[in-house]
Amino acid sequence: MMNTARVSARELPKSASVVIIGGGVMGVSIAFHLASAGVSDVVLVDKSDLGSGSTCKAAGGVRAQFSDSINIALGDRSLKVFENFRETFDQEIDLHQVGYLFLLSTPDEVSLFEHNIIEQRKLGVVSEMISVEEAKERSPLINTDGLIGAAFSPYDGYCTPESVVLGYATASRRLGAALVPHCEATGIEVHDGRIRAVMTENGRIATGTVICAAGPWSKQVGDWAGVQLPVTPLRRQIMVTEPIPGLDPHTPFTIDFASSFYFHGEGSGILMGMSDPDETPGFKFDVSDAWLPRLSRTIEHRAPSLTEVGLRSSWAGLYEMTPDHNALVGEAKGIDRFLYATGFSGHGFLMGPAIGEVIRDLFLETPPFIDVSELDALRFSGGEQRPEMNIV
Ligand SMILES: Cc1cc2nc3c(=O)[nH]c(=O)nc-3n(C[C@H](O)[C@H](O)[C@H](O)COP(=O)(O)OP(=O)(O)OC[C@H]3O[C@@H](n4cnc5c(N)ncnc54)[C@H](O)[C@@H]3O)c2cc1C
Repeated sequence: MMNTARVSARELPKSASVVIIGGGVMGVSIAFHLASAGVSDVVLVDKSDLGSGSTCKAAGGVRAQFSDSINIALGDRSLKVFENFRETFDQEIDLHQVGYLFLLSTPDEVSLFEHNIIEQRKLGVVSEMISVEEAKERSPLINTDGLIGAAFSPYDGYCTPESVVLGYATASRRLGAALVPHCEATGIEVHDGRIRAVMTENGRIATGTVICAAGPWSKQVGDWAGVQLPVTPLRRQIMVTEPIPGLDPHTPFTIDFASSFYFHGEGSGILMGMSDPDETPGFKFDVSDAWLPRLSRTIEHRAPSLTEVGLRSSWAGLYEMTPDHNALVGEAKGIDRFLYATGFSGHGFLMGPAIGEVIRDLFLETPPFIDVSELDALRFSGGEQRPEMNIV
């Protein structure tokens, strides 16, 4: 979490060409791309520190291994940015391209991943099905009981979310964008279908354009403008172990697809997480023990040696879920200039770079590198869904 802004809440600009609500990875990437395209008077407000929402709670996984072709393209585009992030932004992000390894236990899972890999390869992504033996060689901590196959993509991996936020925030500021942390947006003034201003706890910012990048809080921001953004917060937890002697530094981001248990290297220990099917929606930020019995059973089964390692830290954060586990990206109809990038359902960190480009282009009304019209939030009013199957 960081406070990189030169503009304090007391110096809040009175007007802006565009106000971005939310300073997570989406907001700062959008601010950077707008400012670098020459858009002046870009203002971003965040109710807390930049990156302090879901972004800094993320496991840092970056990948192009998705089922939805739009997500494959967004993930791949972002990976290329992460690969060059240090040179582009003069910011180390500790990128480990150790690959993503999905462990598969049923014929249905295998056929889903075989199909995904065909789609990924069509888009130039290097991914492949591998044997259980090769999976064990790549990720030595796993117990292979019950596995029948695996999918691997060598250029995926993980990096540090806070550093990515810092890189974009610093670059945005250099380009003249005003990033204002600790400034909560409290409403949007709309007259005759046109946005007039964003109201904040520190005053009013006159503007004709709002971009909602408020992560799990996006539904409220949409409601202010009469735009339905069906985003629900859902708690997810992470644990980090003490150092593990002899841990293979090439251990991939390993996911047991059936249980959703995942782990990757973190310093000289392991970071791990898993979904809790009994978790209920809500803004819950505290660490809960309720998931521990299920987690322990899963670790004992899939990575038994981890049961002997001490824990160093743990935390909870929020996934920003949509009904089909796919993102909401677009510009609202029926109101002038309300854009949104939210609802990434647990894979938004890795999409930050590409989505910044896409929202810049939607704002400038030029075609983005990929058509995201199918991620329009209106898909739910027509009963249409566009499910992403490969979420963890
Ligand atoms: C445990 C966990 C693990 C995860 N692991 C991964 C992973 O490995 N890879 C991956 O890609 N994704 C992962 N994610 C998901 C990822 O963190 C999110 O999808 C992503 O960070 C969303 O970014 P964002 O900028 O949209 O939202 P956020 O980072 O939540 O930013 C939204 C910001 O809006 C601000 N805000 C909200 N309301 C207001 C308001 N009224 N006024 C002003 N500011 C406001 C908040 O303070 C916040 O900073 C994980 C999430 C969790 C919880």
